[in-house]
Amino acid sequence: MDSTSILLEANDIPTQWYNIAADLPKPLAPPLGPDGQPAKVEQLAAIFPPAIIEQEMSRERWIAIPDEVREIYRLWRPSPLVRAVRLEKALGTPAKLFFKYEGVSPAGSHKPNSAVPQAYYNRQAGIRRLTTETGAGQWGSSIALAGQMFGLDVRIYMVRVSYEQKPYRRLMMQTWGGEVFASPSEMTETGRRALAADPDNPGSLGLAISEAVEEAASRADTNYSLGSVLNHVVLHQSVIGLEAKKQFDKIGLYPDVVIGPCGGGSSFGGIAFPFLGDKAAGDRRAANLRCIAVEPTSCPSLTKGTYAYDFGDASGFTPAMMMYTLGHDFVPPGIHAGGLRYHGASQLISMLYHEKLIEAIAVPQLATFEAGILFARQEGIIPAPESCHAIRAAIDEALECRETGEEKVILFNLTGHGHFDMSSFERFFAGKLEDYEYPQDAIGRSLANLPRFD
Ligand SMILES: *Cc1c(COP(=O)(O)O)cnc(C)c1O
Repeated sequence: MDSTSILLEANDIPTQWYNIAADLPKPLAPPLGPDGQPAKVEQLAAIFPPAIIEQEMSRERWIAIPDEVREIYRLWRPSPLVRAVRLEKALGTPAKLFFKYEGVSPAGSHKPNSAVPQAYYNRQAGIRRLTTETGAGQWGSSIALAGQMFGLDVRIYMVRVSYEQKPYRRLMMQTWGGEVFASPSEMTETGRRALAADPDNPGSLGLAISEAVEEAASRADTNYSLGSVLNHVVLHQSVIGLEAKKQFDKIGLYPDVVIGPCGGGSSFGGIAFPFLGDKAAGDRRAANLRCIAVEPTSCPSLTKGTYAYDFGDASGFTPAMMMYTLGHDFVPPGIHAGGLRYHGASQLISMLYHEKLIEAIAVPQLATFEAGILFARQEGIIPAPESCHAIRAAIDEALECRETGEEKVILFNLTGHGHFDMSSFERFFAGKLEDYEYPQDAIGRSLANLPRFD
């Protein structure tokens, strides 16, 4: 192979998203409303446009990508698939290591893949304003960008600690026209209650979601948008894996292992599901395919959580979904991979894990930074702390191949660059980053608060 980067043409951008709901071993359990009955479309219609609700429930295998969305995808898609030849050499592995690089988007991660269609469908439904939450700022900046492209006002509730620690992410949102508030805020009932209880509340993703949902539900011109977890977000992210499949076709290879970081699970599903679709269709190349979701040991939803009905937010405004969860009021330790600090995982990821069709592992923080720095020194790109989780797992797979002599093809999702996370690297270099123990007590306490519908 002459070049290490496998590029595609603009007209190779997929024209349809792949929906794994068509290929599940059994249907998903329905989301439940407060009365314990399956949530009704009208409840969702208060905060989502019809096209998104339809996608959320759809079991069609292929769903057309609107031309207006593909037009904007063209600003950075197709994203490169790169063979990490220098990293392979440094590891002395016979494995072939590939990464799909999603950091080429304007916001620097995979998140605009879903922000753009979400803004499009809301605009199409006559909505003028969107609310959302953001932790580390990746989703907030993506939706600010996408809202701007379709003429929507965007209001973002940003977890207070990040608001204070990540001024540049906040400024990106403001540059793209977004309005940003530190959460908990005085803008909502939820925020006011949290501040009354504790004026120094550092905020959490679950709390910020509650604020954004509360505002969207109370205004007819305003909808809510979520950056991960829900089925339609995972659907939109399938462009990652669909492109990667075309890129592997071009060089006549097929991955043995697909690895991605897993917060809510949208980017992991995005890269892995199109390959699992091959497996479901009986493609022999995918017969022994392994897909590995990688999470932090400090927020181990899949590997240490419970498979149960739980809310998507801290206050219980969202319908309850069947998923692996640490409990909706679990507040994870302040690790630096902000995008992985979510208490649950997508229903789709959760079911596939429960059915043993995918694997999950948890890795400690320091080992992820070590892997990310080795990667940066070999391949040049400075990865986001979230992406470092996938790099760690890919390196460990490659090192195992060094022992066994297997020439596995390993694909991992390089979900974003780390240019706005340099203070985390600074703390790592200064020896100030810690490995957080799996907080058994805290998880036990929050699991005691799972909703019961009896
Ligand atoms: C948000 C984020 C993630 C995790 O979110 P998922 O929905 O699990 O994909 C991973 N990497 C980066 C760079 C992110 O911004």
